[in-house]
Amino acid sequence: MKYPVFERFYTWQGEGVHLGRAAYFVRLYGCPQECPWCDSAGTWHKDYRPAGVQLMTPEAIAACVAQESPEGAVVVITGGEPILFDLTPLVEALHGLGRRVHLETSGIAPLRGAIDWVTLSPKPFGTLPLPSVVQQAHEVKIIVHDTSDIRDGLATLDGLKDDAVIWLHPEWSKARERDAAVLNAITEAVKANPRLRAGYQMHKLYRADDLDAGSDKRPIPLGGNPQLGY
Ligand code: SF4
Repeated sequence: MKYPVFERFYTWQGEGVHLGRAAYFVRLYGCPQECPWCDSAGTWHKDYRPAGVQLMTPEAIAACVAQESPEGAVVVITGGEPILFDLTPLVEALHGLGRRVHLETSGIAPLRGAIDWVTLSPKPFGTLPLPSVVQQAHEVKIIVHDTSDIRDGLATLDGLKDDAVIWLHPEWSKARERDAAVLNAITEAVKANPRLRAGYQMHKLYRADDLDAGSDKRPIPLGGNPQLGY
């Protein structure tokens, strides 16, 4: 079994319950959702596909994790859409190192692998998350590009565990521009429903990922700013 690794880098988790934790990211290639504001467009968009993607065994990925990050750093498997792959061998290899393994997914296929923490980011305009993945989510991240995304995202969450955290994240271009409609809609939604939390992509303010040579440095303009590169 080999996984297509688009990029891997050591940084910290910039969002969600585990904000600020040291984290090694393994970003797998391929995603069918085609979000118009995708901030990882190199994993699928025809204009940003890399010339080649490294195919790596679970053991090779685990060896990089062990060499390039200290014990205690969690491993975040992201994409792209990593749930398209059977993650069982990779998770087993990472657990063999004693690492906790987190997953970021839109939930469009059955989850294979004993993931320790599941972050679900539903895409209501694309393929909806499977109920089985919704039920396994520890937190949900709804990206808010238009104010209606709050309603549409929440509508995908039937069966979510009572203790799962639900984040409302302004889509990055809206956050960067301080879009009042989006930010105020999130504020009002949180005030009306204390189950919800207002989120932010803190790593983009720090540009923390850029400090690792393994991260993709190319400008990704979908929802971002080509001049700024994020
Ligand atoms: S699901 Fe994620 S990786 Fe896929 S297109 Fe949307 S934002 Fe990009």
